[in-house]
Amino acid sequence: VGVFYRPLDKINAVIETYPKGIAGFRSFLDLMATEPDITDRPQAQAVGKLRGEVRFEDVHFGYTPDRPLLRGLDLHIPAGRTVALVGPSGAGKTTICSLLPRFYEVTGGRITIDGTDIRDMTQESLRGNIGIVQQDVFLFAGTLRENIAYGRLGATEAEIRDAARRARLDDVIADLPLGLDTLIGERGVKLSGGQKQRLAIARIFLKNPPILILDEATSALDTVTEAAIQGALAELAAGRTTLVIAHRLGTIRNADRIIVVTEQGIVEEGTHAELVKAGGVYQRLHAQAG
Ligand code: ATP
Repeated sequence: VGVFYRPLDKINAVIETYPKGIAGFRSFLDLMATEPDITDRPQAQAVGKLRGEVRFEDVHFGYTPDRPLLRGLDLHIPAGRTVALVGPSGAGKTTICSLLPRFYEVTGGRITIDGTDIRDMTQESLRGNIGIVQQDVFLFAGTLRENIAYGRLGATEAEIRDAARRARLDDVIADLPLGLDTLIGERGVKLSGGQKQRLAIARIFLKNPPILILDEATSALDTVTEAAIQGALAELAAGRTTLVIAHRLGTIRNADRIIVVTEQGIVEEGTHAELVKAGGVYQRLHAQAG
């Protein structure tokens, strides 16, 4: 544990959890060990808490120069709204989301939050405004309390308990003889996938960022756990600008806007009802999903 604390502490403001980042990001340890190739501009400003109005303006990006992936993407998410990205595997949904915290740099166009180019913000302050919920949850050997508090070091006991409750973890905690003092990790209790996800959600309640990226779980959870997580996520997303990478259509019906991404870029957008009526790609995906 001791080995972990210091570096964790240092990047805590950055992002709560990512051993692998969203899908293919550099590993957590790599991230700390290697000099990041994306550096702050000399004039970058540390921004405080943003409102969260997100704009992608004519964004171009490719992991390699010979394979452009995004060719002029425009996307606007008003502060506090939820946009869901759907589309076939490999279309670029994860990539779009990973540009916002600047895990990768756009090659053309720009991304702004509240009108400011994200490259003019320090990465630490930018990422301090973004919470990421994804399948891989970074846990360290320690107590449940310490693992939740990792969302915001220095959180009080009351804040930790409140975050756990909102993340629907309180039942889990109540069932453990040692409660929040339960050791997790190799020598302690092994948490289930659903419990880990709720722990990640609790961290973000503590962090309280205005912007949220949800990489929806693909793995099947039992219905009770699924309902608890969906409830917690809905509460977490309320009032925050939210970008959802949807792997299933059922959970995004209520998104303010659904964007269908294919290799051709954004091919459709609208509400669930609009897209079903439009009879395009989304309608077909919807029909397949039953
Ligand atoms: P899925 O639904 O399977 O998660 P996706 O729509 O999120 O797919 P991305 O993960 O954004 O798609 O991938 C878009 C393309 O970029 C794919 O062809 C993928 O192989 C490629 N790609 C993704 N990450 C990297 C990376 N780190 N380096 C190189 N290519 C990558």
